[in-house]
Amino acid sequence: MEEKERKKKKDKAENKADNKKNKHKKDKQSEKEKKHADENKKTKTELDAGAANIEKNAEGDKSSEEDSGRKPDIIKRMIIAAAAIALGLLFVFDPELFYSFIGSIESGAEEEMHQSGLYAAFIDVGQGDSILLVSPNGKTMLIDEGTTDSFNSIESFLNEKEIKKLDAVIATHPHSDHIGSMKRIIDDYSVGRFYMPEAVNTTTTFDKLLSSLERKKVKTKAIWGGKETSISWDDEVEVRVLSPIKGNDYQQNLNDMSLVVKVTYGETSLLLTGDAEKTAEAIMLKNDAGLLKANVLKLGHHGSSTSSSKAFLDAVSPDIVVISVGANNDYGHPHKETMERLSKMDVKVYRTDKLGTVCMMLDGKEVKLLDISKK
Ligand SMILES: [Zn+2]
Repeated sequence: MEEKERKKKKDKAENKADNKKNKHKKDKQSEKEKKHADENKKTKTELDAGAANIEKNAEGDKSSEEDSGRKPDIIKRMIIAAAAIALGLLFVFDPELFYSFIGSIESGAEEEMHQSGLYAAFIDVGQGDSILLVSPNGKTMLIDEGTTDSFNSIESFLNEKEIKKLDAVIATHPHSDHIGSMKRIIDDYSVGRFYMPEAVNTTTTFDKLLSSLERKKVKTKAIWGGKETSISWDDEVEVRVLSPIKGNDYQQNLNDMSLVVKVTYGETSLLLTGDAEKTAEAIMLKNDAGLLKANVLKLGHHGSSTSSSKAFLDAVSPDIVVISVGANNDYGHPHKETMERLSKMDVKVYRTDKLGTVCMMLDGKEVKLLDISKK
Protein backbone atom coordinates (compact mmCIF):
# COMPACT_ATOMS: atom_id res chain seq x y z
CA MET A 1 0.00 0.00 0.00
CA GLU A 2 2.71 2.40 1.07
CA GLU A 3 4.87 1.41 -1.87
CA LYS A 4 1.98 1.91 -4.24
CA GLU A 5 1.46 5.35 -2.91
CA ARG A 6 5.15 6.18 -3.13
CA LYS A 7 5.16 5.08 -6.79
CA LYS A 8 2.13 7.20 -7.45
CA LYS A 9 3.87 10.18 -5.89
CA LYS A 10 7.03 9.45 -7.87
CA ASP A 11 5.05 9.24 -11.14
CA LYS A 12 3.32 12.47 -10.28
CA ALA A 13 6.62 14.21 -9.58
CA GLU A 14 8.09 12.89 -12.81
CA ASN A 15 5.06 14.09 -14.77
CA LYS A 16 5.38 17.47 -13.14
CA ALA A 17 9.07 17.62 -14.09
CA ASP A 18 8.23 16.61 -17.66
CA ASN A 19 5.54 19.21 -17.84
CA LYS A 20 7.96 21.79 -16.53
CA LYS A 21 10.55 20.65 -19.08
CA ASN A 22 7.99 20.80 -21.87
CA LYS A 23 6.82 24.15 -20.71
CA HIS A 24 10.39 25.43 -20.67
CA LYS A 25 10.90 24.01 -24.16
CA LYS A 26 7.65 25.58 -25.28
CA ASP A 27 8.58 28.91 -23.69
CA LYS A 28 11.94 28.82 -25.37
CA GLN A 29 10.30 28.13 -28.71
CA SER A 30 7.72 30.85 -28.33
CA GLU A 31 10.48 33.15 -27.14
CA LYS A 32 12.24 32.47 -30.41
CA GLU A 33 9.01 33.05 -32.30
CA LYS A 34 8.41 36.23 -30.40
CA LYS A 35 11.91 37.52 -30.98
CA HIS A 36 11.13 38.66 -34.49
CA ALA A 37 7.92 40.30 -33.41
CA ASP A 38 9.74 41.98 -30.54
CA GLU A 39 12.33 43.35 -32.90
CA ASN A 40 9.57 44.85 -35.01
CA LYS A 41 7.96 46.20 -31.88
CA LYS A 42 11.28 47.68 -30.78
CA THR A 43 11.67 49.44 -34.11
CA LYS A 44 8.15 50.79 -33.70
CA THR A 45 8.92 52.03 -30.18
CA GLU A 46 12.08 53.67 -31.42
CA LEU A 47 10.07 55.23 -34.21
CA ASP A 48 7.47 56.47 -31.73
CA ALA A 49 10.26 57.90 -29.59
CA GLY A 50 11.64 59.56 -32.70
CA ALA A 51 8.28 61.00 -33.62
CA ALA A 52 7.69 62.18 -30.06
CA ASN A 53 11.10 63.79 -30.05
CA ILE A 54 10.46 65.57 -33.33
CA GLU A 55 7.06 66.74 -32.14
CA LYS A 56 8.60 67.93 -28.89
CA ASN A 57 11.25 69.88 -30.75
CA ALA A 58 8.53 71.41 -32.88
CA GLU A 59 6.73 72.58 -29.75
CA GLY A 60 9.23 75.35 -29.35
CA ASP A 61 12.37 76.49 -27.63
CA LYS A 62 10.78 77.00 -24.25
CA SER A 63 9.85 73.37 -23.51
CA SER A 64 13.12 71.99 -24.85
CA GLU A 65 15.03 74.46 -22.68
CA GLU A 66 13.11 73.25 -19.61
CA ASP A 67 13.80 69.63 -20.53
CA SER A 68 17.51 70.09 -20.94
CA GLY A 69 17.68 71.30 -17.35
CA ARG A 70 16.03 68.13 -16.02
CA LYS A 71 17.21 65.36 -18.29
CA PRO A 72 20.82 64.14 -18.26
CA ASP A 73 22.52 64.84 -21.57
CA ILE A 74 23.37 61.18 -22.24
CA ILE A 75 19.71 60.08 -22.20
CA LYS A 76 18.80 62.90 -24.53
CA ARG A 77 21.60 61.91 -26.90
CA MET A 78 20.51 58.25 -26.76
CA ILE A 79 16.92 59.18 -27.66
CA ILE A 80 18.11 61.31 -30.57
CA ALA A 81 20.47 58.54 -31.74
CA ALA A 82 17.67 55.93 -31.47
CA ALA A 83 15.33 58.15 -33.45
CA ALA A 84 17.98 58.74 -36.10
CA ILE A 85 18.75 54.98 -36.34
CA ALA A 86 15.04 54.13 -36.55
CA LEU A 87 14.50 56.69 -39.30
CA GLY A 88 17.64 55.42 -41.09
CA LEU A 89 16.38 51.82 -40.94
CA LEU A 90 12.99 52.89 -42.15
CA PHE A 91 14.58 54.74 -45.05
CA VAL A 92 16.62 51.63 -46.04
CA PHE A 93 13.84 49.04 -45.67
CA ASP A 94 10.75 51.01 -46.61
CA PRO A 95 11.54 54.31 -48.34
CA GLU A 96 7.88 54.85 -49.19
CA LEU A 97 6.83 54.67 -45.56
CA PHE A 98 9.81 56.87 -44.64
CA TYR A 99 8.68 59.61 -46.99
CA SER A 100 5.05 59.37 -45.93
CA PHE A 101 6.22 59.58 -42.28
CA ILE A 102 8.32 62.68 -42.95
CA GLY A 103 5.54 64.11 -45.15
CA SER A 104 2.96 63.71 -42.41
CA ILE A 105 5.14 65.74 -40.01
CA GLU A 106 5.56 68.51 -42.59
CA SER A 107 1.92 68.69 -43.68
CA GLY A 108 0.81 68.59 -40.04
CA ALA A 109 2.92 71.65 -39.30
CA GLU A 110 1.61 73.44 -42.39
CA GLU A 111 -2.00 72.63 -41.50
CA GLU A 112 -1.47 73.95 -37.99
CA MET A 113 -0.03 77.18 -39.38
CA HIS A 114 -3.12 77.70 -41.51
CA GLN A 115 -5.43 77.07 -38.60
CA SER A 116 -3.72 79.17 -36.00
CA GLY A 117 -4.42 82.70 -37.04
CA LEU A 118 -6.29 85.29 -38.99
CA TYR A 119 -5.65 84.85 -42.70
CA ALA A 120 -5.87 87.87 -45.00
CA ALA A 121 -5.62 87.90 -48.79
CA PHE A 122 -5.54 91.10 -50.83
CA ILE A 123 -6.79 89.64 -54.10
CA ASP A 124 -5.31 91.03 -57.29
CA VAL A 125 -8.36 92.51 -59.04
CA GLY A 126 -6.51 95.13 -61.08
CA GLN A 127 -7.68 98.68 -60.30
CA GLY A 128 -10.02 97.98 -57.38
CA ASP A 129 -10.23 96.29 -53.98
CA SER A 130 -11.16 92.81 -52.81
CA ILE A 131 -10.00 91.40 -49.49
CA LEU A 132 -10.69 87.93 -48.12
CA LEU A 133 -10.40 87.22 -44.40
CA VAL A 134 -10.58 83.78 -42.79
CA SER A 135 -10.79 83.70 -39.00
CA PRO A 136 -8.96 81.21 -36.74
CA ASN A 137 -12.25 79.29 -36.48
CA GLY A 138 -12.82 79.23 -40.23
CA LYS A 139 -15.29 82.12 -40.55
CA THR A 140 -15.06 83.95 -43.87
CA MET A 141 -15.42 87.61 -44.77
CA LEU A 142 -15.14 89.32 -48.13
CA ILE A 143 -14.59 93.06 -48.17
CA ASP A 144 -15.29 94.59 -51.61
CA GLU A 145 -15.38 92.69 -54.90
CA GLY A 146 -13.44 94.68 -57.50
CA THR A 147 -14.87 95.67 -60.88
CA THR A 148 -17.32 93.72 -63.08
CA ASP A 149 -14.25 92.14 -64.74
CA SER A 150 -12.91 90.85 -61.42
CA PHE A 151 -15.41 88.04 -60.89
CA ASN A 152 -13.28 85.25 -62.38
CA SER A 153 -10.22 86.22 -60.33
CA ILE A 154 -12.25 86.32 -57.12
CA GLU A 155 -14.16 83.12 -57.91
CA SER A 156 -11.03 81.13 -58.73
CA PHE A 157 -9.34 82.38 -55.56
CA LEU A 158 -12.34 81.33 -53.44
CA ASN A 159 -12.43 77.95 -55.22
CA GLU A 160 -8.75 77.45 -54.52
CA LYS A 161 -9.47 77.99 -50.82
CA GLU A 162 -12.58 75.76 -51.08
CA ILE A 163 -14.81 78.57 -49.83
CA LYS A 164 -18.53 78.22 -50.63
CA LYS A 165 -20.03 80.32 -47.84
CA LEU A 166 -19.24 83.91 -46.93
CA ASP A 167 -20.26 84.61 -43.34
CA ALA A 168 -19.95 88.35 -43.84
CA VAL A 169 -19.71 90.53 -46.93
CA ILE A 170 -18.86 94.21 -46.68
CA ALA A 171 -19.27 96.81 -49.41
CA THR A 172 -17.06 99.69 -48.23
CA HIS A 173 -18.84 102.13 -50.56
CA PRO A 174 -20.94 101.89 -53.75
CA HIS A 175 -18.28 102.65 -56.39
CA SER A 176 -17.88 100.25 -59.31
CA ASP A 177 -14.27 99.27 -58.48
CA HIS A 178 -15.49 97.99 -55.09
CA ILE A 179 -18.94 96.53 -55.80
CA GLY A 180 -18.44 95.59 -59.48
CA SER A 181 -18.64 91.81 -59.01
CA MET A 182 -20.69 91.88 -55.84
CA LYS A 183 -24.03 91.02 -57.48
CA ARG A 184 -22.58 87.80 -58.94
CA ILE A 185 -20.97 86.92 -55.60
CA ILE A 186 -24.33 87.38 -53.84
CA ASP A 187 -26.04 85.26 -56.53
CA ASP A 188 -23.50 82.41 -56.49
CA TYR A 189 -22.52 82.11 -52.82
CA SER A 190 -24.27 81.57 -49.55
CA VAL A 191 -23.96 84.90 -47.71
CA GLY A 192 -24.51 85.26 -43.95
CA ARG A 193 -24.72 89.02 -43.47
CA PHE A 194 -24.15 92.01 -45.69
CA TYR A 195 -22.91 95.40 -44.46
CA MET A 196 -22.73 98.73 -46.28
CA PRO A 197 -22.60 102.41 -45.36
CA GLU A 198 -25.70 104.57 -45.43
CA ALA A 199 -24.78 105.79 -48.89
CA VAL A 200 -26.40 105.20 -52.24
CA ASN A 201 -25.31 105.46 -55.83
CA THR A 202 -27.45 105.92 -58.94
CA THR A 203 -25.62 103.31 -61.06
CA THR A 204 -27.19 100.15 -62.44
CA THR A 205 -24.38 98.13 -60.77
CA PHE A 206 -25.64 99.36 -57.38
CA ASP A 207 -29.32 98.77 -58.27
CA LYS A 208 -28.60 95.21 -59.41
CA LEU A 209 -26.72 94.52 -56.19
CA LEU A 210 -29.67 95.70 -54.08
CA SER A 211 -32.08 93.55 -56.13
CA SER A 212 -29.89 90.48 -55.63
CA LEU A 213 -29.68 91.04 -51.89
CA GLU A 214 -33.46 91.31 -51.75
CA ARG A 215 -34.07 88.29 -53.97
CA LYS A 216 -31.73 86.08 -51.95
CA LYS A 217 -33.10 87.46 -48.66
CA VAL A 218 -29.63 88.29 -47.36
CA LYS A 219 -29.65 90.01 -43.96
CA THR A 220 -28.49 93.49 -44.98
CA LYS A 221 -27.49 96.32 -42.67
CA ALA A 222 -26.51 99.90 -43.47
CA ILE A 223 -24.18 100.95 -40.66
CA TRP A 224 -22.23 103.90 -39.26
CA GLY A 225 -18.86 103.63 -37.58
CA GLY A 226 -17.57 105.06 -34.32
CA LYS A 227 -16.18 103.92 -31.02
CA GLU A 228 -19.04 101.53 -30.29
CA THR A 229 -19.69 99.93 -33.65
CA SER A 230 -18.53 96.37 -34.11
CA ILE A 231 -19.49 93.47 -36.33
CA SER A 232 -19.85 90.05 -34.71
CA TRP A 233 -18.00 87.50 -36.81
CA ASP A 234 -15.70 85.29 -34.76
CA ASP A 235 -15.42 85.23 -30.96
CA GLU A 236 -11.63 85.43 -31.14
CA VAL A 237 -11.50 88.34 -33.57
CA GLU A 238 -12.67 91.89 -33.01
CA VAL A 239 -14.11 93.68 -36.04
CA ARG A 240 -14.67 97.39 -35.41
CA VAL A 241 -16.08 99.91 -37.81
CA LEU A 242 -14.28 103.24 -37.32
CA SER A 243 -15.83 105.35 -40.07
CA PRO A 244 -18.00 107.09 -41.27
CA ILE A 245 -19.22 108.60 -38.02
CA LYS A 246 -22.80 109.88 -37.91
CA GLY A 247 -23.26 113.63 -37.47
CA ASN A 248 -20.18 114.62 -39.50
CA ASP A 249 -20.23 116.35 -42.87
CA TYR A 250 -18.71 114.12 -45.56
CA GLN A 251 -19.77 116.57 -48.31
CA GLN A 252 -21.57 113.88 -50.32
CA ASN A 253 -18.18 112.31 -51.08
CA LEU A 254 -18.79 108.57 -51.48
CA ASN A 255 -15.08 107.80 -50.94
CA ASP A 256 -15.19 109.49 -47.54
CA MET A 257 -18.33 107.49 -46.71
CA SER A 258 -16.26 104.26 -46.99
CA LEU A 259 -16.68 101.83 -44.12
CA VAL A 260 -13.27 101.71 -42.43
CA VAL A 261 -12.79 98.42 -40.65
CA LYS A 262 -10.22 97.48 -38.03
CA VAL A 263 -9.76 93.75 -37.51
CA THR A 264 -7.83 92.65 -34.42
CA TYR A 265 -6.64 89.19 -33.45
CA GLY A 266 -4.51 89.09 -30.30
CA GLU A 267 -1.79 91.68 -30.66
CA THR A 268 -2.06 91.80 -34.45
CA SER A 269 -4.39 93.98 -36.50
CA LEU A 270 -5.43 95.16 -39.94
CA LEU A 271 -6.83 98.57 -40.84
CA LEU A 272 -8.87 98.41 -44.04
CA THR A 273 -9.81 101.88 -45.23
CA GLY A 274 -11.70 101.42 -48.50
CA ASP A 275 -11.32 104.70 -50.39
CA ALA A 276 -11.53 106.97 -47.33
CA GLU A 277 -9.83 110.31 -48.04
CA LYS A 278 -8.40 113.11 -45.94
CA THR A 279 -11.79 114.39 -44.64
CA ALA A 280 -12.69 110.97 -43.23
CA GLU A 281 -9.13 110.54 -41.92
CA ALA A 282 -9.31 113.87 -40.06
CA ILE A 283 -12.65 112.90 -38.47
CA MET A 284 -11.23 109.52 -37.36
CA LEU A 285 -8.16 111.24 -35.88
CA LYS A 286 -10.41 113.66 -33.97
CA ASN A 287 -12.70 110.87 -32.78
CA ASP A 288 -9.97 108.62 -31.31
CA ALA A 289 -6.51 108.56 -32.88
CA GLY A 290 -5.49 105.68 -30.58
CA LEU A 291 -7.99 103.34 -32.23
CA LEU A 292 -6.19 103.66 -35.57
CA LYS A 293 -2.95 101.92 -34.64
CA ALA A 294 -2.51 98.72 -36.69
CA ASN A 295 0.22 96.37 -37.95
CA VAL A 296 -1.14 96.28 -41.48
CA LEU A 297 -2.71 99.21 -43.35
CA LYS A 298 -4.59 98.76 -46.61
CA LEU A 299 -3.82 102.18 -47.99
CA GLY A 300 -6.85 104.37 -48.72
CA HIS A 301 -8.03 104.94 -52.29
CA HIS A 302 -5.36 102.86 -54.09
CA GLY A 303 -2.54 105.13 -52.91
CA SER A 304 -4.11 108.37 -54.09
CA SER A 305 -2.58 111.59 -52.69
CA THR A 306 -6.09 112.59 -51.59
CA SER A 307 -5.75 109.95 -48.85
CA SER A 308 -3.00 108.94 -46.39
CA SER A 309 -2.21 112.26 -44.73
CA LYS A 310 0.99 112.29 -42.68
CA ALA A 311 -0.99 112.62 -39.42
CA PHE A 312 -3.11 109.60 -40.36
CA LEU A 313 -0.10 107.45 -41.33
CA ASP A 314 1.63 108.46 -38.08
CA ALA A 315 -1.40 107.46 -36.02
CA VAL A 316 -1.72 104.06 -37.74
CA SER A 317 2.06 103.55 -37.59
CA PRO A 318 1.92 100.34 -39.64
CA ASP A 319 4.71 97.77 -40.19
CA ILE A 320 3.18 96.74 -43.50
CA VAL A 321 1.26 98.76 -46.09
CA VAL A 322 -0.73 97.07 -48.86
CA ILE A 323 -1.69 99.02 -51.98
CA SER A 324 -4.49 97.43 -54.02
CA VAL A 325 -3.94 98.94 -57.45
CA GLY A 326 -3.97 98.08 -61.17
CA ALA A 327 -0.84 98.34 -63.32
CA ASN A 328 -0.76 101.46 -65.56
CA ASN A 329 -4.16 102.65 -64.30
CA ASP A 330 -5.81 105.83 -65.63
CA TYR A 331 -5.49 107.65 -62.31
CA GLY A 332 -1.73 107.38 -61.85
CA HIS A 333 -2.27 105.46 -58.57
CA PRO A 334 -0.37 105.16 -56.36
CA HIS A 335 0.55 108.83 -56.43
CA LYS A 336 4.15 109.98 -56.12
CA GLU A 337 3.38 112.10 -53.01
CA THR A 338 2.01 109.05 -51.17
CA MET A 339 5.01 106.91 -52.10
CA GLU A 340 7.35 109.65 -50.89
CA ARG A 341 5.48 109.85 -47.57
CA LEU A 342 5.82 106.07 -47.17
CA SER A 343 9.50 106.10 -48.09
CA LYS A 344 10.17 108.28 -45.04
CA MET A 345 8.60 105.65 -42.77
CA ASP A 346 10.01 102.33 -41.59
CA VAL A 347 7.42 100.28 -43.44
CA LYS A 348 7.23 97.41 -45.94
CA VAL A 349 5.07 98.17 -48.98
CA TYR A 350 3.30 95.41 -50.94
CA ARG A 351 1.54 96.39 -54.19
CA THR A 352 -0.89 94.07 -55.97
CA ASP A 353 0.10 95.50 -59.39
CA LYS A 354 3.67 94.36 -58.79
CA LEU A 355 3.15 91.23 -56.66
CA GLY A 356 -0.31 89.95 -57.56
CA THR A 357 -2.44 88.64 -54.70
CA VAL A 358 -0.79 89.33 -51.35
CA CYS A 359 -1.54 86.81 -48.57
CA MET A 360 -0.61 87.00 -44.93
CA MET A 361 -1.23 85.31 -41.59
CA LEU A 362 -1.75 87.25 -38.37
CA ASP A 363 -0.99 84.74 -35.63
CA GLY A 364 -1.88 87.02 -32.73
CA LYS A 365 1.75 87.99 -32.12
CA GLU A 366 3.16 88.81 -35.54
CA VAL A 367 2.26 89.14 -39.20
CA LYS A 368 3.79 86.66 -41.64
CA LEU A 369 3.70 87.14 -45.38
CA LEU A 370 2.57 83.80 -46.84
CA ASP A 371 2.78 83.90 -50.58
CA ILE A 372 2.50 86.23 -53.47
CA SER A 373 1.19 85.09 -56.84
CA LYS A 374 3.48 87.10 -59.21
CA LYS A 375 7.23 87.12 -58.80
ZN1 LIG B 1 -11.63 102.56 -55.32
